[in-house]
Amino acid sequence: MKFNTKTIHGGQKHEEATGSVSTPIFQTSTFAQTQPGINRGYEYSRISNPTRKALENSLAAIENGTHGLAFASGLAAIDCVLRMLNPGDEVIAGNDLYGGTYRMFTKLFQKYGFKFRFVDMQDATNVTNAISDATKLIWIETPTNPLLKIADIEKIVTTAKAKNPNILVGVDNTFATPYLQRPLDLGADIVMHSATKYIGGHSDLIMGALVVKDAQLAKELHFIQYAAGAVAGPMDSFLALRGIKTLHLRMQRHSENSKAVASFLNEHPKVSAVFYPGLESHSNHEIAKKQMNDFGGMVSFRLKDASIEAAHTFLKNTKIFTLAESLGGVESLMSHPITMSHASIPEEERLELGITNSLIRLSIGVEDVEDLMKDLEQALTK
Ligand SMILES: *Cc1c(COP(=O)(O)O)cnc(C)c1O
Repeated sequence: MKFNTKTIHGGQKHEEATGSVSTPIFQTSTFAQTQPGINRGYEYSRISNPTRKALENSLAAIENGTHGLAFASGLAAIDCVLRMLNPGDEVIAGNDLYGGTYRMFTKLFQKYGFKFRFVDMQDATNVTNAISDATKLIWIETPTNPLLKIADIEKIVTTAKAKNPNILVGVDNTFATPYLQRPLDLGADIVMHSATKYIGGHSDLIMGALVVKDAQLAKELHFIQYAAGAVAGPMDSFLALRGIKTLHLRMQRHSENSKAVASFLNEHPKVSAVFYPGLESHSNHEIAKKQMNDFGGMVSFRLKDASIEAAHTFLKNTKIFTLAESLGGVESLMSHPITMSHASIPEEERLELGITNSLIRLSIGVEDVEDLMKDLEQALTK
């Protein structure tokens, strides 16, 4: 099956009892047993639930994996991966990770004796140089938030595994989705999603996912999933499964609209810089072109007026773009990293990463792009 068919049919079968074409919401905590210990494949919904199972099979199919796991949030999915490690083990991660992941690593796991090294992953040699005997996991995010930097997944995997084949490589594929890039095909061991974003696609749920292609790894992760218990509920699983059925259509439009918006901003006299991997001026454009099928729906830019007031004026004056955290829904959103997602990062580090007063991040929705550009134009000239 090709990708667009997989989003709709991958890992799916009609429900057995009635033939229901749409996967029912099995809103149940438990399942009747015919004899003690004898069941029909399901015993308790923390361990497994048919609606969640259908979603997990779909996730595995679209990421070219063999096993999917759905969690209560994206962070719960990352937490599950970290729980495979032991105190003293080292993790190498990008130096501009999603804020919540950085917080989990440094504020939760660090105190249990886990070690973290943060490096600039635009250059794969930074990763290889950071590997020590204690390194167990490399955690990649690409494209990154909010500057859309790109890491070369295949190169990082190849050089890291040449040094130590037992190192696991995990990729947070939230921004790209499997429509744009499939990390397991590039040699990664684990793919992770905040399904809250593009997988769900409608800003109506919080959910996380992992996909792997190794049965032993799947078994270990499934054990942690039900032993720790942060599973996705049946209703949310239904919504995510429904979201996946239009993932290819949405990602195509998100990418198309973003390309138009990025070029528009690039030409605009009130804008000093645009960050979009699809622009030839983007510093990782070549890797992006090689690694991704298209460039996705996230665009960041800097206003020429570097004052925080100018940013606030812009953010107050849009009519279609909504000021809100999150991304990846059908509607266009915008955020101000310095006062929102990155507010807790010390100023010096923030500036080093390029997160300035006038940096604005857009999650481009699937509306008519002419309306989006008109909205940006009137807010930019207010
Ligand atoms: C939102 C997000 C997360 C966290 O996911 P939640 O569903 O909010 O727990 C992790 N990584 C990236 C890149 C994200 O955008």
